[in-house]
Amino acid sequence: MRPFPNPHEPWAQDKAELHMHLEGCLEPDLWNKFQRKHSYLDIAPVTTVTYPFTDLSSFLAWRYQGDRLLNDEEDFFDLTWRYVQRALDNHIVYAELFFDPQAHTARGVSLDTVMSGIIRALRQAEQRYGWTARLIPNILRDHPLRTAEDDLAHLEAYGDWIVGVGLDSRELPYPPRLFRHLFDQVRRKGWHVVAHAGEEGPASYIWQALDELGAERIDHGIHAMDDPVLMGRLKIDRIPLTICPWSNKRLGVTTDLSIYYKLFHEGLVLTINSDDPAYFSSYLNANFELISPYFPPDALQQLIKNSFVASFRTDF
Ligand SMILES: [Zn+2]
Repeated sequence: MRPFPNPHEPWAQDKAELHMHLEGCLEPDLWNKFQRKHSYLDIAPVTTVTYPFTDLSSFLAWRYQGDRLLNDEEDFFDLTWRYVQRALDNHIVYAELFFDPQAHTARGVSLDTVMSGIIRALRQAEQRYGWTARLIPNILRDHPLRTAEDDLAHLEAYGDWIVGVGLDSRELPYPPRLFRHLFDQVRRKGWHVVAHAGEEGPASYIWQALDELGAERIDHGIHAMDDPVLMGRLKIDRIPLTICPWSNKRLGVTTDLSIYYKLFHEGLVLTINSDDPAYFSSYLNANFELISPYFPPDALQQLIKNSFVASFRTDF
């Protein structure tokens, strides 16, 4: 990470982050702490260079192994508190944070355990630093729909902490259309809708997320580039894409780092994000640093403004 010589450079400016998975903040020291604490014999300790993934599926195999290490309220507190510290380091002043309820409830960890640890950390951050965040539970494409319905019903008890519901995990072969009925329920509950689409899936998955789920933001959405009509739709309706450059680079989604400026130059609303920063060793500022050679300074400023405009807070 470069030093902060200029307060006008993006790494020294206040930003929002809209695409960050809390389970993706399991840094190696936390991984090893929980592995020892819960006496897992089938999960090895890690170092920062342990992860040999090359694509989304091989990455998710690591991520879901790490998820299994999260078991009690203190684990979820520690995980969330780690992100708060990194957010402060990266000049992130507000975040809409993803988490995967089914990844935990499917193992017998109660949703109340998950939520109480996360919310305790967020309350402490607000009291201590005036730092705020809201939560977006993601439905896992490759888990049974019934469990998603159960978890969403339970999450209604957490009121204002939940700002929306998303869709994640491996895209293929799970087109967004399969989840239409579920997202009808989400919208009826008054929650916003986001969806991972067009990361490994085709542009048609982005169309489905928009038209069949009612998605208001698309997470990743890189494959919109393949469909000029879709590009026009995203531009006219000002649908934000939450872009994650280091994630794309590490998972082989694109090797062309100029693609982000091409999307921006076409008039799309892009935001820059870190996705699963502990696994990619790259929090938000590192993502800005990666793309900054391709963006003129005024465009970088616009990306920062977009992070607030594309959030679900109405007071920015
Ligand atoms: Zn993601």
